[in-house]
Amino acid sequence: MPATAPITQDLLTIPRKAAPEGPLNLIGLPRAELRAALLAIGTPEAQATMRTAQLWQWIYGKGARSFDEMTNLAKDYRRRLAENFTLDRPELVTRQVSADGTRKYLLRVAGGGEIETVYIPEEDRGTLCISSQIGCTLTCSFCHTGTQRLVRNLTAAEITGQILLARDDLGDWGRTPVEKRLVSNIVLMGMGEPLYNTDNVRDAMRIAMDGEGLALSRRRITLSTSGVVPEIERAGSEIGCLLAISLHATTDEIRDRLVPINRKWKIAELLDACRRWPRLSNAERITFEYVMLRDVNDSDADARRLVKLIAGIPAKINLIPFNPWPGAPYERSTPERIEAFARIVNRAGYASPVRTPRGEDIMAACGQLKSASERTRRTRQPA
Ligand code: SAH
Ligand code: SF4
Repeated sequence: MPATAPITQDLLTIPRKAAPEGPLNLIGLPRAELRAALLAIGTPEAQATMRTAQLWQWIYGKGARSFDEMTNLAKDYRRRLAENFTLDRPELVTRQVSADGTRKYLLRVAGGGEIETVYIPEEDRGTLCISSQIGCTLTCSFCHTGTQRLVRNLTAAEITGQILLARDDLGDWGRTPVEKRLVSNIVLMGMGEPLYNTDNVRDAMRIAMDGEGLALSRRRITLSTSGVVPEIERAGSEIGCLLAISLHATTDEIRDRLVPINRKWKIAELLDACRRWPRLSNAERITFEYVMLRDVNDSDADARRLVKLIAGIPAKINLIPFNPWPGAPYERSTPERIEAFARIVNRAGYASPVRTPRGEDIMAACGQLKSASERTRRTRQPA
């Protein structure tokens, strides 16, 4: 391959499961693959289904971090499991806790790449914002993650592992009923474009939704995409969670600049894909995310165009005040402008919550995620 080959092409074709160096990690394996792994170490066929269920319960129901804890399995069998498999989470590099209770985890994954996971406690829920890739190959001009150069897809183990690690850290295992859990909701709004990694995201979210696993209702999981139109349909049929669309502009001209994937799939195509989203109803509305950028996309005319564009789609509009990062080429819209914009959207009958930036003091807000090592490297580069 020539040295100048685009890095993104190369990295997006890495195998779906990272090259298994050393023992296989059981986390993130679909049930059938877990069963096959148990058979491969000599588990008798007649016991395999029961053993799979037991392991599943230990790993995802109780949060077991070692095979030793699995006391309803014979000692010899536990040893065999430990010799062949791991239950590794991503490695915790740093954990920062914001004045508002938001926690940001910097995690290291195989190969040395780093990702971030953010926990946001609110009165009625606790939301875990997880990453689907290291960095992101898309280069939305207002997003800090998009400026990170090192990119690869995360494995299902690494995606699921973020949930397990956060629950470990929060002491969130064994809380019943589900409503008492600290991690009650998941949003795929961390680093990366989930629909450039649909298979692994699907496997991980199926585990998150599995009634005998993490047991989160599918309506507590939201996948946010910048608009990978051909994958939206597959996400609807194979994952079945809620959908959020990073719309951010009301004309193709502006969206081409803000969300460059728009040059491939235009606003009209994106909205057609939304109209085909299964189970679309008032109970399962699509969220349209709209970052408020001063004098770029925040006029009254934009607000009016926005409601026209999405007419007929059961939707809510999430207005996100731009979260600045060092060197960002945009400013946040003024509170008055955001309010005026929200009023027009509300009058058209759409809920339009303004997303309060959380964890700003630890750079944990939307679109600010970028690994610490990358930041350090860049600041060391000559101007
Ligand atoms: N790649 C996916 C999911 C991750 S980004 C996507 O783009 O949808 C999660 C949300 O944060 C997206 O709506 C994204 O556009 C928004 N975002 C990115 N940078 C931001 C910033 N600096 N301020 C506010 N929101 C931002
Ligand atoms: Fe990637 Fe989403 Fe950031 Fe765009 S907004 S660069 S798609 S993470």
